[in-house]
Parts: sequence; C-alpha cells; structure tokens
Amino acid sequence: RFISFEGIDGSGKSTQIKRLATHLTQQGHDVVLTREPGGSPGAEEIRALVLQGDPDRWSAETEILLFTAARRDHLERTILPALAEGKIVLCDRFADSTRMYQGLSRGNLRGIVDSLHELMIGREPDLTILIDMDPATGLSRALSRQTKDERFEAFGEDLQKAMRQGFLDLAEEFASRFRIVDGARDIDSVADDIAALTEAALA
Ligand code: C5P
Repeated sequence: RFISFEGIDGSGKSTQIKRLATHLTQQGHDVVLTREPGGSPGAEEIRALVLQGDPDRWSAETEILLFTAARRDHLERTILPALAEGKIVLCDRFADSTRMYQGLSRGNLRGIVDSLHELMIGREPDLTILIDMDPATGLSRALSRQTKDERFEAFGEDLQKAMRQGFLDLAEEFASRFRIVDGARDIDSVADDIAALTEAALA
C-alpha cells in the first residue's frame, strides 16, 4: 500500500509519519519511509536544486518540471519497487503538495501540474493523511526550526492560509483516498488517530 502525508509547513507531518512507521513496523509490516521532494538519489539532487539558493532561480513553470522529474525518479527507483515487494510505502508529501505549492503559490498553475502528472506520474496514493492545522500554529512551528537551505519555510501566513484551504479542497476533490486529522492536538492523540485510520484502510 502507498500512503502519503500532506499538510502545511509545521503541521507535524514528519513527526507523525515516523510514529506511524514505528507503529506499523511493530505490527510486523515491512515499511519504507520516504519523502518528497527527494526519496531517491536523483530526486534528492533535484531537491537541493529547488530548495537551496536563490528562490527566484527557477520560473514557476520550470519548478513544476523539476518537481515532476524528481517525482518520476522517486516513483521509478523507490516507490514502485517497494510496492512490488509488498511493502507499505509511507511518503512525506506527494503530488498533492505540487498541486498546492507549485499549483497555487505563484499564480494558478494547477492545469500545468495536472497535465504533467497525467503524462509522467499517473499514480495516486491509496490513502492520504491530511494533517490539518491553523496556519498561525503551523507557521510558528515551522519558523522555529527554519534552516537556511529550506527556502520555502519563509512562506507567509496568508499563503499558508490559502494552502490550508487548498488542502481541504483537495480532500474533497479526492474524497475516497483522503482522511483529515486535526493536527492541533497533542502528538499522542494525533498519532492514535492516524494509526486507527491507517489500520482501517489496510484491513
Ligand atoms: O515537507 P517539508 O515541510 O519538509 O518540505 C520542505 C519545504 O518545501 C516546505 O517548506 C514546503 O513548503 C516546500 N515544498 C514545496 N513544494 C512541494 C513540496 C514542498 O514548495 N511540492
């Protein structure tokens, strides 16, 4: 099974995906934990190209091509081989993040994102956990761990609000695979919800 995690910056995805990986491993599942952009050697190189350095280095359109190239490599080299071996793949962000970040942050480019997705990716997760959170909370968490090479952390609160709403809209658009979790609670409660939702989906 292929499970993705989505949410705005600071929503706690990375913490929760690790918790779920540990939980599923303890239950005897073979789990591969991966992330985007990145997740394969080539895609990690593309990650460095897009996340480091001058934010205006690439046009919005070129950035979509780079994210799609990274995803294609990640899918070919990491995700599909693991799924073929019967493993559970947990992915920190997938195409929904590109629908939001590249599709929304610099104008409405969702049409380009969707066309490239259909042409080059054509695969959705079986289950997508959306960790929903108030942007002010998410932003203060994200800023508190901001690092120089992760330029995107600097997204302002207005954009984070648009992203939050965008993710909720995506959850409606792809209702059959999305599950929304309230991320504003303590880590253990969120982790318990995610474990229950995942077990129900795997059953
Ligand atoms: O998932 P994580 O928060 O580590 O992602 C790193 C940064 O890259 C985030 O700040 C996110 O906003 C940005 N990003 C992006 N477009 C994507 C995926 C991530 O702008 N498709």
